[in-house]
Amino acid sequence: MGITDEKQQTLNKLKRIITLERENDYTDVTVIGGLEGFVARAAEMLEDETLQELIVDYANRSVPERRRAISELGDRIRALETGPQPQEDSQKTLMNPVRYAKRVGKIREKQLNRLGIETIADLLLYFPRRIEDRRQVKRIAELRDGEPATVHARVRAKDVIRPRDNLEILKVALQDRSGLLYGIWFNQPWLKSQFEPGERLAVHGKAERKYGQIQMNNPVWEPIDDHFETGRLVAIYPATEGLSQPLLRRIIRDNLAIYLPQVKEVLPTEIREQQGLLMRHEAIPGIHFPETMEDWEQARRTLAFEELFLFQLGVAVHKRRLERQAGRSHRVDGELVERVIDALPFELTAAQTRTIEEIQGDMAAPHPMNRLLQGEVGSGKTVVAAVACLIAIATGDQVAIMAPTEILAEQHYLTLKALFASFPISIELLIGSLPEAEKRDVQARTARGEMELLIGTHALIQEGVSFLQLGLIVIDEQHRFGVIQRAELEHKGEEMDILVMSATPIPRTVTLTLYGQFDISIIDELPPGRGKTETYWVTEHHRNEVYEMVKNELARGRQGYIVYPLVEESEELDLNAATEMKDRLQRGAFQAFQVGLLHGRMSRAEKEAVMERFRSGEIDLLVATTVVEVGIDIPNATVMVIEHADRFGLSQLHQLRGRIGRGEEQAHCYAIASPKTEESHRRLTAFRDIDDGFQIAEEDLKIRGPGELLGTSQHGAYTDFKVADLIGDLEIMSRARQEAFRAAERGPEPKLIEAFRERFGEQFELASV
Ligand code: ADP
Ligand code: MG
Repeated sequence: MGITDEKQQTLNKLKRIITLERENDYTDVTVIGGLEGFVARAAEMLEDETLQELIVDYANRSVPERRRAISELGDRIRALETGPQPQEDSQKTLMNPVRYAKRVGKIREKQLNRLGIETIADLLLYFPRRIEDRRQVKRIAELRDGEPATVHARVRAKDVIRPRDNLEILKVALQDRSGLLYGIWFNQPWLKSQFEPGERLAVHGKAERKYGQIQMNNPVWEPIDDHFETGRLVAIYPATEGLSQPLLRRIIRDNLAIYLPQVKEVLPTEIREQQGLLMRHEAIPGIHFPETMEDWEQARRTLAFEELFLFQLGVAVHKRRLERQAGRSHRVDGELVERVIDALPFELTAAQTRTIEEIQGDMAAPHPMNRLLQGEVGSGKTVVAAVACLIAIATGDQVAIMAPTEILAEQHYLTLKALFASFPISIELLIGSLPEAEKRDVQARTARGEMELLIGTHALIQEGVSFLQLGLIVIDEQHRFGVIQRAELEHKGEEMDILVMSATPIPRTVTLTLYGQFDISIIDELPPGRGKTETYWVTEHHRNEVYEMVKNELARGRQGYIVYPLVEESEELDLNAATEMKDRLQRGAFQAFQVGLLHGRMSRAEKEAVMERFRSGEIDLLVATTVVEVGIDIPNATVMVIEHADRFGLSQLHQLRGRIGRGEEQAHCYAIASPKTEESHRRLTAFRDIDDGFQIAEEDLKIRGPGELLGTSQHGAYTDFKVADLIGDLEIMSRARQEAFRAAERGPEPKLIEAFRERFGEQFELASV
């Protein structure tokens, strides 16, 4: 198989340039405007992405790097001359790594991987963040400052200016009947050759009116009749550095053309028709290149339904299997439970009593317990879980408690040790920062069955601790667990009882979805005698007054927190900021008190020491990064200042606030913030005015809007879906759930199980059904 003459000529030219560049000692003076532009254009002509990738940023590379690039270019050119590359022979299947996709080479593969795109199938299903309507064309004179728009204009003139050494600006004058617009591109001088005076272009970008001129920075442009980037609805994707929107769009377009015929239907025809959904091979192009918004919405609904259906199918199959499975019956005489409860220094709330009974019932039954224990921070879940532990231990089983962080694991450890003080139970803590030898010892004793209650972090217990007789797992998940991640864990514990504790207040419909296979217990009342927490929102100007209030509290023997958000990219910078702040407060406003510091980079021993000093009252005021969020329980702490409160999400603020007001005293929470957006204004207002966690959650969802939920770390529980949006798609979810449970009842087709696997991995092990 040969190549065309034209291509051969380009290759010859490239070879000559490379030889010259070598002779010029890699100084990038061989071609006017730099080697990169030249090679990039040649690569375009040769339709070879690899060539282009090899030359990226050549101008800014060091000489050794340039030498390597040139040598690799040489190899690539030889490969192109000798015909097709081996990868093109390999089978074109959707499950191939994305590196086999058209227009994708090694570098782009890495970039795509960063976006979570591993396979070609992932690429086709890469879901746009939104759709931008570029159908409306405006006249230049109508352009408004800051507004994105498309114009049709003719190229009048072009120029590259060099205001500074490392800055080259390409300025292209574009004109329509109404006026003149400048397109501006930075440091891409080779683009100059792409604009021919007289040519008519469609240009899309954000207009800026500046110095009496109208300009667009880095606008998208194309020949007026292309209608790819402009003149249509254009999908905007979550992007990553180095991968521009137009490029991503072209990669998707080209691969859709190649691979769409391989896309197979997933949903059974009856379901698809009943639900009014599209075929998959219609829906997939529809999310990327819709003709109308209705098209897009229907395509999106189709894929969302499919995704939720598959997920719910996994849940349904899993649940059915659990129900059929024999489990151990943990039946103990009521007396034991009575004894623990009597030993408590307080009366249980009605909600706690009720949930304990529910759990007791589950555990006594001869199949595994799967129960979600939901309750706000401070509602007293730990005691309830403790009773479950005791029941399992009393019947001869071991118990594992998994916490999301080391601090929380330690907190549970201390609490339970105290609770079980009068019971002969062996309890151990297993966390990463233990010395190796100690860890091994704990593991060995666990394996021999000498350990009855093991408390650790999720990671540690998941990683191959073996138990002689594990009968109950308690998972304290706080905010940190995704749906899929949890499913993985549950799978490990199939024969045993599982109790998941969650403090995440979410709407009930969402609970049913996320915890589909669980029975649910809710502790919906706080222990009595809790001092209420009054919340204030103040601006920076009032910081000194806030400090005065805090001082008053401290002077009365109370304790407090000052919380800083993780602001910087690097933990180190944050650490410095927090350390500095601590020193400043100690020397300044809080001279008369003992100020302590707690942050995520401390070793376990350091954290423990600080916490102990805080607990014992030696430290009055604790400056903390958000590590304080999880499970610190100091009833004497009655005041909290949250700095930069606008940088926290609403639920997170609420979670933080839960750290105070745990004693009988009235507590005070001061959020310091001068919010700059409408959204953060609403957030802070809600934080100040609402104190019920579930209401906070609903409000949080409303403020963020469904779209915003996906991919935000604070909502770990919502991030598993690619297309579906748990809040916005609740209605789709409930239909998908019904259909999925019905399908599971019938025994799902192998095709569906295959599709489930491709999408969600092996966690549910559907094959063994
Ligand atoms: P959660 O885990 O739900 O956030 P905890 O179990 O840590 O809450 O309980 C919070 C605090 O309330 C603990 O100090 C605990 O001892 C206390 N507590 C729990 N139940 C009661 C109750 N019924 N009456 C009084 N205090 C309680
Ligand atoms: Mg707790």
